[in-house]
Amino acid sequence: MDRDRCTELDADDPLADRRARFRLPGERIYLDGNSLGAFQDAVLEAVLGAAGTWRRDAIAGWNAGWVELPSAAAGRLAPLIGAHLSEVAVVDSTSANLFKAVVAGLALRPQRRRIVVAEEEFPTDRYVVSGIAELTAAEIAVAPRASVEDALDPHTAVVLLSHVDYRTGDRLELEEVTARVHAAGAVIVWDLSHSVGALALDLPRADVDLAVGCSYKFLNGGPGAPAWIYASRTHHDELATALRGWFGHAEPFEFAPDYVPAPGAQRFHNGTPPILSLAALHGALEVFESLDLRALEAKTASLTDVFIRLVDQRCPDVEVVTPRDPARRGAQVSLRHEHAHALIRALAARGVIGDHRPPDLLRFGFAPLYVRHVDVYNAVEVLADLLETDAWDRPEFHARERVP
Ligand SMILES: *Cc1c(COP(=O)(O)O)cnc(C)c1O
Repeated sequence: MDRDRCTELDADDPLADRRARFRLPGERIYLDGNSLGAFQDAVLEAVLGAAGTWRRDAIAGWNAGWVELPSAAAGRLAPLIGAHLSEVAVVDSTSANLFKAVVAGLALRPQRRRIVVAEEEFPTDRYVVSGIAELTAAEIAVAPRASVEDALDPHTAVVLLSHVDYRTGDRLELEEVTARVHAAGAVIVWDLSHSVGALALDLPRADVDLAVGCSYKFLNGGPGAPAWIYASRTHHDELATALRGWFGHAEPFEFAPDYVPAPGAQRFHNGTPPILSLAALHGALEVFESLDLRALEAKTASLTDVFIRLVDQRCPDVEVVTPRDPARRGAQVSLRHEHAHALIRALAARGVIGDHRPPDLLRFGFAPLYVRHVDVYNAVEVLADLLETDAWDRPEFHARERVP
């Protein structure tokens, strides 16, 4: 693997034209799209449009498109997970949606009380489940991600899992794990925060019950963008939500005293939608229109593969933590090094943006719509140079920041 080969791969990239829509930060190589996706001019236009409507028309904005904006955003998102529009709501944060999804999962299995969650799960997922357990008297079983199936028993109502692990980039087999959870009579809730926008997902085909995900990572919706929640059509007749805000009512503007759920996943709507943030997300999702998801996943596999090969060649002292089989990883590669934090700071000073997860992981995200193979090549050259010269070992690179 060399620079010329990377240039060839970029020349053959069927997604190459999408990169022009992004405004990447200066001359830097941005490998942190798994934490915060990059900016597009379409986002600014959409936000200015919504703000302009507010300035010009004030309250009339609701009847000039705002009230339909959540479903317009869901309409752009649904194809990325293979969903029907009635199965998706764009709403709230991933954390709030986890609460709604796990509680809905418990309600689908009223005779069972156990929630199984992976030990390595993203903290918010674990925290939310602990709150649900206190509220509902459900019991929690924590199991290693690799052997979650061993924890399934006749009491298991819900299994909550991240498809791609935020720390290691390890990917589980969505269809297989879902089938095993179903064989045990339980309901699966997938957290797809690190999958959507980078991998080819088809939730109905995989028979997924419920899922949630983030919109500010590979979907590029902007900091704190509204998240999404998915509920399979097979469950809509018995689907229950505990957070019954008026926007999840069948007829919110009837102001009726009694709760009647909106159809399908729309019942997961909660309070008044955040129009400016929704406009940003709606604008951001335009780049995915009529995109071939297999090409998206192939680019993800190719970028991560090139990165791993180059790290093996050029940085023999760092350990690649992420699985080498592309079917077993997402769009992220993590490397282990004792001085991960200082290395990430030193890389940033040289224009290569990744991030650090304590204690010793360097994390790099490869957003398939705007990262090129040649960027990967250049990034590894900088990393190799820092390691060879020990240039990372300077006091300013050891200082801690509030957000790592
Ligand atoms: C990023 C991420 C979240 C984020 O949750 P927020 O409520 O948006 O802060 C949740 N779960 C996983 C697995 C994530 O990677």
